[in-house]
Amino acid sequence: MSILRIHHYPDPVLKLKAERITVFDTELRALASHMLETMYAAPGVGLAAPQVGISRRLIVLDCSPKDGDRQPLVAVNPEILAREGECCEEEGCLSVPEYYAKVVRSEKVRVRFQEIDGTPREIEADGLWAICFQHEIDHLDGILFVDRLSPLKRSLFRKKYQKIQEQRQEQL
Ligand SMILES: [Zn+2]
Repeated sequence: MSILRIHHYPDPVLKLKAERITVFDTELRALASHMLETMYAAPGVGLAAPQVGISRRLIVLDCSPKDGDRQPLVAVNPEILAREGECCEEEGCLSVPEYYAKVVRSEKVRVRFQEIDGTPREIEADGLWAICFQHEIDHLDGILFVDRLSPLKRSLFRKKYQKIQEQRQEQL
């Protein structure tokens, strides 16, 4: 197991449309377990391969309650088949450190993906799982949660984020 480096906005890898995965080998299995390890260490509830600099359609999630058992989920080539309802919850992102904002999402989603060995699977997600799926699948299309804010909020974000980055630089 190893902890991977998380790429931060505005790293260009975060803007790419990630490539579909066609080979389900031990390398893919290793990448998924390193991503899970990296996500738990951060800590976070989801991580997409582009966030560790790999532009491939792979995400890992675990939105189980913090005091319960871990429920790691690995989804290869995930896509949203259906959406229902609307919600607006505060989100953050490991690639956009120390910034949080409310984002409008679908309340429930039906997601199709492949398991790590290529087995097709479909699930219905709601609550935090639904939000997390939408957030992580966005990453595979080069979309960050801040891209979903209103133009005004987005320009406020840019100013605030610049300050956050400057402060981080001073701390290094
Ligand atoms: Zn994210």
